[in-house]
Order: sequence, then structure tokens, then C-alpha cells
Amino acid sequence: MNKRPDTSCKCDVCRSWCDRRVGWFLPEQIGEIEKHFKKPIAKLIGNILAVDYWVGGKDGGKDILVLCPNFVGNDGKLIPFSPYGRCVFYNERKECDIYEIRPYECRWPTHDFHGEENDHEIVAHEWSRVQNIFDELEIEVPEASLFDVLNFMKDGLISGDV
Ligand code: SF4
Repeated sequence: MNKRPDTSCKCDVCRSWCDRRVGWFLPEQIGEIEKHFKKPIAKLIGNILAVDYWVGGKDGGKDILVLCPNFVGNDGKLIPFSPYGRCVFYNERKECDIYEIRPYECRWPTHDFHGEENDHEIVAHEWSRVQNIFDELEIEVPEASLFDVLNFMKDGLISGDV
């Protein structure tokens, strides 16, 4: 995987992303996350971290689970189908509480998830190699309903992402 260079997230455009959508970690960040919070990720998921997913990945169409910060107000382990919400680490000073260990995707300008090479999918593919780390959480990705899809489109339009 060709990594994008680290950039600061001090501009208003990046900050607006923290207010409505979170970036995904890379699997190689698990160690530093656990070190930072002094807990295994299984104990953090459903609290300050959550599991998102890439629908129908490269490994035969299975959804790929990925790790990310949780949203304010989401007390489940899984990010909702419409993945819009304020990051739990975005503080009142409009700064990131975990800046030093922020997710890989939060380090790009404007969280350009769907750039030329669909980087979001590339990150999901990295997670496809380590799906076993989610085994003990017994996460089931629900089938998306028409309501979910409509909600996703509505939220995306409101946030300017779709
Ligand atoms: S982890 Fe930090 S940079 Fe990433 S969305 Fe949350 S507040 Fe923003």
C-alpha cells in the first residue's frame, strides 16, 4: 500500500470532517492505540472506538470490518449504515484529542475518502487481512434496508459528501 503523507488537520475543512465523519485506522495502528489507552481494542470498541465496514470487499464479496473512532451518541459496537456523526475525539477547542495517534485517514487533506484510487477501499483491503481480530466481538453487519440507503443519501447530501 502506498501511504499518503501526513498532513496537519488544523484547517476548517478538515475540522468540519471531524464534526460529521470519522476516518479509519490502519491495522498497524492497533499497537499504538492499545498503548495509548492502556487497554485492548476489544475493551474500547462500543465506547470510544467502533467498527465500520466496507460493503462487499475483495475477498469474495464479504463485508470488511475496519476500526475507527466512535460517534458521539452511538453506544453500539458498529457504526450505523449512514456513517455520519461527530467524532468522540473532536473536542470543544475544535481539536483532536488523539492527534498523535489519529487514524491514518484523518491525516489526509479533507479526508478525501473517494479520491482517484478510492483510497477508502484500499484501507479496507488492509483490514481484510486481519478480520480475525474482530472474532471475539461477534459483530453482525445487518442487511441494509431501503430506509438505510435513503438515510445515507440524505445525510450525505446534507454534509456535502454525496
Ligand atoms: S480522530 Fe481526530 S482527526 Fe480523526 S475525525 Fe476524530 S477528531 Fe478528527
